[in-house]
Amino acid sequence: MPAETPITQDVLTIPRKLPEGAGRNIVGLTRDGLREALAEIGTPEKALKMRVGQIWQWIYQKGVRDFGTMTNLSKDYRALLAEHFEIAVPEVVDRQVSADGTRKYLVRIAGGHEVETVYIPEADRGTLCISSQVGCTLTCSFCHTGTQKLVRNLTAGEIVGQVMLARDDLGEWPEPGKAPKNESRLISNIVLMGMGEPLYNFDAVRDAMKIAKDNEGISLSRRRITLSTSGVVPEIAKTAEEIGCLLAVSFHATTDDIRDKLVPINKRWNIEVLLNALRAYPKLSNSERITFEYVMLKGVNDSDADARRLVKLIAGIPAKINLIPFNKWPGAPYERSDWDRIEAFADIVYKAGYASPVRTPRGEDIMAACGQLKSATERGRKSKAEIAAEL
Ligand code: SAH
Ligand code: SF4
Repeated sequence: MPAETPITQDVLTIPRKLPEGAGRNIVGLTRDGLREALAEIGTPEKALKMRVGQIWQWIYQKGVRDFGTMTNLSKDYRALLAEHFEIAVPEVVDRQVSADGTRKYLVRIAGGHEVETVYIPEADRGTLCISSQVGCTLTCSFCHTGTQKLVRNLTAGEIVGQVMLARDDLGEWPEPGKAPKNESRLISNIVLMGMGEPLYNFDAVRDAMKIAKDNEGISLSRRRITLSTSGVVPEIAKTAEEIGCLLAVSFHATTDDIRDKLVPINKRWNIEVLLNALRAYPKLSNSERITFEYVMLKGVNDSDADARRLVKLIAGIPAKINLIPFNKWPGAPYERSDWDRIEAFADIVYKAGYASPVRTPRGEDIMAACGQLKSATERGRKSKAEIAAEL
């Protein structure tokens, strides 16, 4: 880790804010991408590796947005950076705090589009739920985001930028070298469970998570990052190889008939095909258990027979079953299963040898719970014809 130059008189005479050009945003560039960008502005080849590391530390570990404050770089070099680049994160246009401490950020990205990011504090961790797309191409019938057309994919900068803006809000920018252990951080975990299907925006999600994992970046262990997919089978092995994070899968049903209705991507890759891809995941990614997410919908997928089928289907896969009480949204065509039904289901799963935690709904009062996210400005509901065309 390069030592930081102590602040000298010389440094203090620089104006606090150097004029920033309308330059290229370097947030979200991979190490290689930043290296290339720095080479293009004339950074000597032999200094490139070190400069990338230094700049990453300022941006991702200290939260600096102004090249002028990068005190271990020469004055001239800082000016050169400011002339060509900017350090920009998406803007928070609204922040709501739930009675339970959950925070929901409405985030504006380029083009005036909006996504939501949710921070969930718990006793032993703080989880940031981030979005990967504005809307979603998929149309899971119980999901609010699914009623919103895909507007666009987020860039890697907009994905990792959500971590940065939440850190701004929480005031969590540790000094490099003094970073607290992962578990004592305010943001100790990241889940890609916000708006969108992360595996339909693979490259940007991968690049953003590389920065999240990097020791000179956000510096979170890959075991503290969970990506949730509805079951984009061809990308599952790639996720293991290129991201290596934990995997969660929106399973939600135990027969193809029901899963076709709840998670229509099942018509493309059905339960059997999905399970085969999941069987290979732990070995490929060298990770522990896969999380099977299972939304509890009254009278639809919550019977004892479903619970028994579920444990049979996943036999042999190291797994935990996360039961998610359905969260209502305006016009939703389902009801949440009763608590005694959820408990009976959890009990069968547990007795079969699987952890079966029931996910406590968080931030319901601010519509921040799973599946409730949808940006207010993008209300366009898909027509029946559009939904049918996508299936
Ligand atoms: N597109 C990805 C990740 C985002 S959804 C995926 O589908 O996995 C995160 C989780 O919330 C998924 O398991 C999703 O199925 C679940 N979810 C969606 N709508 C919900 C709702 N209304 N109530 C409870 N969970 C919901
Ligand atoms: Fe998209 Fe996931 Fe919602 Fe399905 S559950 S519509 S994949 S965000």
